[in-house]
Amino acid sequence: MTGSSDNFARGRRQGRLRVAEPQAAWDRLANMFALQPLMAGIAGTVVAVSMVGLSLVTLYNGRADALDHARETSANLVSIIEGTIARDVDLYKISLKAIVDGAEQPEMMALPPNVRRQAMFDRATTALYIGGPYLMDAKGQVVIEGDLETVRPGLFTEREYFRVQEHDSNAGIYFSHPYRDGFGRLSIGISQRINSDDGSFAGIALLAVRVEYFRMLLQNVDIGHLGSVFIIREDGTFLVRKPYTDSDVGRNVSGSSTFPVMISHPSGAYVAKSPMDGVRRLYSYARVPGTPFIVVVAPAEDDVLTSWRNRSIAVGSLTLIFGFCFIALSWLLAISLKQRAVVQAELIQLAGTDALTGLDNRRVLDSRMDEEWRRARRNGTSLSALFIDIDHFKRFNDTYGHAAGDNALARVAECIESVIRRPGDIAARYGGEEFVILLPNTSSVGASRIAEKLRAKVEAMGIAHVPSPYGVVTVSIGCTTSFADRGRNAVSLLSDADGALYLAKMSGRNRVTASASAAVGVH
Ligand code: GH3
Ligand code: MG
Ligand code: MG
Repeated sequence: MTGSSDNFARGRRQGRLRVAEPQAAWDRLANMFALQPLMAGIAGTVVAVSMVGLSLVTLYNGRADALDHARETSANLVSIIEGTIARDVDLYKISLKAIVDGAEQPEMMALPPNVRRQAMFDRATTALYIGGPYLMDAKGQVVIEGDLETVRPGLFTEREYFRVQEHDSNAGIYFSHPYRDGFGRLSIGISQRINSDDGSFAGIALLAVRVEYFRMLLQNVDIGHLGSVFIIREDGTFLVRKPYTDSDVGRNVSGSSTFPVMISHPSGAYVAKSPMDGVRRLYSYARVPGTPFIVVVAPAEDDVLTSWRNRSIAVGSLTLIFGFCFIALSWLLAISLKQRAVVQAELIQLAGTDALTGLDNRRVLDSRMDEEWRRARRNGTSLSALFIDIDHFKRFNDTYGHAAGDNALARVAECIESVIRRPGDIAARYGGEEFVILLPNTSSVGASRIAEKLRAKVEAMGIAHVPSPYGVVTVSIGCTTSFADRGRNAVSLLSDADGALYLAKMSGRNRVTASASAAVGVH
């Protein structure tokens, strides 16, 4: 018999669990993940998916930025080309006006041809890519020419630039469709009507601008591999297009579905598939004021998006890979946390279990005793304790050996486990061949009944114990029940049970003795 109150107190000190200190929020979070390991995987997945989603959205927005940037660049190019043509056309108009004014003055026409040429033809009009200028009479015959070597003899009455002026006194300055001149060069005629004094048709002033002029304008515009830049008449006739082919000049695309958009506004932009080659392009256009021409710059969408696409593929794939790795790592962490939690639970279980009997050990008993005492005090319920000691166990060991002794201990423990029913009941090996059963919310009558049941069960096992007066292994049980008063504690409860056990031993063993305050059940 070992249970003095000092021993109980020492045991309690050794076994007491440390009181948890207040935790920081960070620790609480870490604890939450430790308790719910799958949360780490789910949180990691949510974070990774959000990050990947965000970066994919950002990448996709880069597409719109690239298109906007291309649209801006195209609009600037259109504006530069349109401005250059408008400026040159202004010069052409001045030249034409000088010829028309001269032709309508009889004094001027009376001058010798070479003086007339110098007076009427502005030097600027002899610039590159310009044929003429010419002055033609009402029969389509060239009267004066700016460049003697570039005009072929003959009548030009069938030319569009002539017929329009001949038949329409209000045609103003007319820009003809492209035609091949006498030398086979593609040109457009810019003509203005000359009236005689009575207002009848007297001829035309003409500047023949070679298509080459427009081609050179567009030549240095870099609009990418599949891009296109062109000048088109408002009736849908191509004047010139880069990439250049002679056969495109004069081609009419007014039937295309997007052409009406182009003529409905002075300038603008839209995206469409080209009716010429099926390439999807970003069209920016502007009309050249005072002319029937529309300048169009149209980089191919594929060209514009190439660098965005390459960057997106690289960054997008890396983002996806990193996101995937992040998710995989989160789940690895979650799984390892889960495994750790399982191992930890097993360790805690093992740390609280007596290896020989499988019952709770002393450490668990100490902490549970405190807990149950506090609970009983809170609830105002009673708490019963049974102190069990195997009778003459030293003799048993001496007679049958230590191994048999261990076996007997394990079998008594089985009996103990079999008599406690409620989940809150605690059965522990107190030490050596002594056990404690704690029965929360149990009356002294209930406790004695269980004690007696246990005693009878051990005896009924009939484990031979010749040196014992009973011939079989038996136990003595001290039993006590108490309400958890403020002045007392769990240790005093065990002390009472121990005292009762002492009495049971003194009065012959193999019996249940209740402490003075409790009902007594004797064998
Ligand atoms: P009593 O009826 O007065 O309790 O007599 P007892 O011999 O049982 O009491 P005592 O305290 O003198 O002896 C207890 C014995 O229990 C001593 C020891 O040999 C034995 N014992 C304690 N722990 C173990 C154990 O783990 N295994 C075995 N086989 N025997 C143990
Ligand atoms: Mg003992
Ligand atoms: Mg004993």
